[in-house]
Amino acid sequence: MPFDPNLSFGKSLFFGDILEDQIFPYAEMPPDQVETVAPICEAIDKYMSTIDSRKLDRAGEMPPELLQSLREMGLFGVLVPEEYGGLGLSNSGYAPLGAHSSIGFKGLLLFGTDAQKKRWLPKLATGEMIAAFCLTEPGSGSDAFSIKTNAQRDGDFFVLNGQKLWITNGGIADFYTVFAKTTPDTPAQKGKITAFAVTRDLGGITHGPHEDKMGIRASNTTAVYFDSVRVPAANVIGEEGKGFKVAMSILNHGRTGLGSGAVGGQRRLLQAAIAHATERKQFGRPLASFGKVKEKLGRLATNLYVSESLCYFVSSTIDRGGQDYSVEGAATKVFNSQALWTAADEALQIAGGMGYMREQPYEQAMRDARINRIFEGTNEILRLYIGLTGMQKPGEYLKGLGKELANSLTDPIKSFGLLREYAVRKAKQTVPYGRTQVTKAHESMREQVTYVENAVQGLAALCDTVLRRHGREVVEMQFATTRIADVAIDLLALCTTIARTTRLIDSRGLEKCTNELNMTFAFYSDARHRIRANLRAGTGRNNDEEIKSVADHVIAAGKYENDVLK
Ligand SMILES: Cc1cc2nc3c(=O)[nH]c(=O)nc-3n(C[C@H](O)[C@H](O)[C@H](O)COP(=O)(O)OP(=O)(O)OC[C@H]3O[C@@H](n4cnc5c(N)ncnc54)[C@H](O)[C@@H]3O)c2cc1C
Repeated sequence: MPFDPNLSFGKSLFFGDILEDQIFPYAEMPPDQVETVAPICEAIDKYMSTIDSRKLDRAGEMPPELLQSLREMGLFGVLVPEEYGGLGLSNSGYAPLGAHSSIGFKGLLLFGTDAQKKRWLPKLATGEMIAAFCLTEPGSGSDAFSIKTNAQRDGDFFVLNGQKLWITNGGIADFYTVFAKTTPDTPAQKGKITAFAVTRDLGGITHGPHEDKMGIRASNTTAVYFDSVRVPAANVIGEEGKGFKVAMSILNHGRTGLGSGAVGGQRRLLQAAIAHATERKQFGRPLASFGKVKEKLGRLATNLYVSESLCYFVSSTIDRGGQDYSVEGAATKVFNSQALWTAADEALQIAGGMGYMREQPYEQAMRDARINRIFEGTNEILRLYIGLTGMQKPGEYLKGLGKELANSLTDPIKSFGLLREYAVRKAKQTVPYGRTQVTKAHESMREQVTYVENAVQGLAALCDTVLRRHGREVVEMQFATTRIADVAIDLLALCTTIARTTRLIDSRGLEKCTNELNMTFAFYSDARHRIRANLRAGTGRNNDEEIKSVADHVIAAGKYENDVLK
């Protein structure tokens, strides 16, 4: 079967299915894109090596000359189609430039009308206009639906009032994608959100001071205030009242960019760690010759390989017209941001005391890396999203089954299809080993593939158990949900890595892929232990209740009560 843009590989895992045509053959970047991207990356690397990032970090400001150089290099237009003056790179082409990704005008690209695109994209492509994405507010972070910024209709205009917080580019942007309520909240229902293109020249827009942040200090982050801004109704992005969908679609795309930024960061950190471990000698030998240092370097390289595999899989899915990749995008963001954090921590550790010194790049790398686990959806919220979204279809299925079981007494014909499908699925779950669902992976990874086939059944069975046990209450079962998400993330990462290694073996030959196979095997072995632990814990062998009780205790006491001196 060919790739189906309407199917999600990630979501299918929760049902025990492996849609191998969605990942095999693992996509490659088209040669023309390689030709375009390679010199851009080279030019950026060359330019960035001339920048004193420590100075930027200390100053905590983005100097105008740097912005101008980025403009001249055409970086603001990497994703803008060529007809609007950009480079028109595909998402996979853009992925290596990850750190430069922007969510600021993505709404325009995804949902804008032709007239809107013609009006703003050429200026956004050259960097004459800088864009910002305005969703977060003082009272509304993870709970994006609770925003208070509002836009009231007034003839052909909307009057926009409100405050946005921690907006990247807030102080230097001229184009804001703003989310506001266009119908009021009522006690029974939250109001509807609409997305607007708001340009600074409309007037009534001010911003707060540049925030003094822990990391990414030169990145401009400010509050933005909208005071009775008269926004033409023609500036609505997408449909009125459908702004939440616009926001989530932008963030789904943005997470791929963030995932690829994390790939670039890991690569630089691994490079620094290799250099230090090779040069620094202790006990008369280079650090790199010691087993525990090798373990760190090997794991960092493996994580990087897996992060890349996830990232290019998602970006190529988008490029191939995939419509349903929110679970895959969220999983990539979670995995890659965590891998970047681990890379920063371990690279610093390999550098020892030197790593703790500010003249070295590691402490800044740690501070800069940390934000990736927080913005564009915290990793906790995304894991809940992955778990709950993944369980949605099996949940509907079970719900339908409940109804159909009742109906089957009165209408057996109607319910037959569903019951038969369920019986087949259950039967599949009871087949223990040896079932071949993945036929396209290279035979050298048979053990890994067999494991995946069985673990996917384990995931489906766990979803089934959790849904039956908790029913609607599953939304409150965060321990169970994130455990399910963690299994799914590991399986997704393992599958995309196997697909990528297969592609490399097919093109280069097995003997030239020893390193890639070793990274696949190493990740498999680590992932298998985590998956096994999560599946076991999911069946009830866990300490969830104790942990919750301890938390309830400290929350009720308002402090830790076990001081040894008392
Ligand atoms: C440097 C920086 C740049 C940013 N840039 C932008 C930008 O350009 N545009 C924009 O709109 N926003 C931006 N943000 C905001 C960012 O997206 C939010 O900080 C993020 O979504 C988290 O929201 P919050 O900070 O309000 O945390 P909260 O929502 O208050 O969450 C705090 C903690 O509680 C957890 N939590 C919250 N709800 C739940 C729940 N239901 N269950 C379990 N755990 C929960 C979270 O995981 C987190 O650990 C930026 C933030 C920073 C720091």
